Amino acid sequence: MLYNSLNNLSKSESFKEAVIKGIAPDKGLYYPNEIKSLSKKIIKNLDKYTIHNIAFEAIYQFVGNTIPEKKLKSIIEETLNFDFPLIEVDENIFSLELFHGPTLAFKDVGARFMARCLGYFNENSKEKITVLVATSGDTGGAVADGFYNVPGVEVIILYPKGKVSEVQEKQMTTLGKNIISLEVEGVFDDCQDMVKKAFMDTQINEKIRLTSANSINIARWLPQMFYYFAGYQKASKFNLPINFSVPSGNFGNICAGLIAQKLGLPINHFLACTNLNNAIPRYLKSGVYTPKPTIQTISNAMDVGNPSNFIRVQKIFNNDIHKLKKNVTGYSFNDNETKKCIKNIYKKTKYILDPHGAIGYLGLKKYFKKNPNQIGIFMETAHPCKFAEIVEKTINEKIDIPKKLNKTLKGVKNSIKISDYSQLKEYLLGG
Ligand SMILES: *Cc1c(COP(=O)(O)O)cnc(C)c1O
Repeated sequence: MLYNSLNNLSKSESFKEAVIKGIAPDKGLYYPNEIKSLSKKIIKNLDKYTIHNIAFEAIYQFVGNTIPEKKLKSIIEETLNFDFPLIEVDENIFSLELFHGPTLAFKDVGARFMARCLGYFNENSKEKITVLVATSGDTGGAVADGFYNVPGVEVIILYPKGKVSEVQEKQMTTLGKNIISLEVEGVFDDCQDMVKKAFMDTQINEKIRLTSANSINIARWLPQMFYYFAGYQKASKFNLPINFSVPSGNFGNICAGLIAQKLGLPINHFLACTNLNNAIPRYLKSGVYTPKPTIQTISNAMDVGNPSNFIRVQKIFNNDIHKLKKNVTGYSFNDNETKKCIKNIYKKTKYILDPHGAIGYLGLKKYFKKNPNQIGIFMETAHPCKFAEIVEKTINEKIDIPKKLNKTLKGVKNSIKISDYSQLKEYLLGG
């Protein structure tokens, strides 16, 4: 399979080239030029497959011959070395817990998969690859952990100062070695803009090989489709239509779900749920895309004013908004609604939602008012302890912190402060 830039000004590239470049030379996002459905036999017999087998079947055509089959299988096994439990929290509403990876974020899967692919591609190269990544919170930790100690790869993380949680900050600033964190005076969009600018800066690109580990990179983006197969596999026993509700920021996760559906996974409907950064839900209503500056919320990993995967969402439906609307409904919720939801669910069931998962739950509740007797799965994208301050205040209860975070929390923060693009450039060219 080859990938084309969605700006249509660059030549087609293999999976390997597209992963190494991250973004096409014409600055467009890569998109597969042909997607073949999986055989009906596989889809019908999903429950007979292990998650590793399904993942291999799902991703194989996207990787093509750039990674040998045996190597790809071992990358998948190493990537998916934890489970995604499906927990019923309300009538027909299930939480798909994606937070059992090493940094308790759903981004662990994409980061671990990409790190291993890049490590393989760069195995025999003398040239270092620099991964440049902007984070609103969770990407940073997952990427830091996934790429830690990968030979030949250096990681530079930009995060907005004071706008990530303590756990998130520790996860990206305490590892050291090939992981460098830049603390940016500004909001997430400033970090993302600086990263975009660096990718377009010829002086930088002449000197170092840059790639991206945001969900614009296909090796970070595509493996997220595994969640949908895992969730579907577990919920198919109910014999009811299955809907996925996806708390969304940059819209990489939901886009991967839409690709799983293209592969033949019979998902009934998608709910694209956001906080007040609701450019896409507004677009789904009005047909006009008007991104706005980022608003800070308690679900900070989704504080994205201008989602970078919007163009892929459109492309999946051949830029036909009517088809898109048939398949995807957008909802947006504010911080008060989110907190109220966390509180009520805890009262009712003792289940602790994190602010992102809560937004997914709220979307299902709204959708079910008009569409009863269906299954709803919301993506629980982070462990509530990563947003302990807000969640503990809301439920009036302490949250247990999983043991695997102890070491991170004891680590010493090490970051470099920057306030504008020139300082990033200076660092990249000098360091
Ligand atoms: C990144 C993130 C999201 C949003 O995912 P996108 O793929 O950017 O839409 C949601 N919740 C959490 C906890 C995240 O870290």
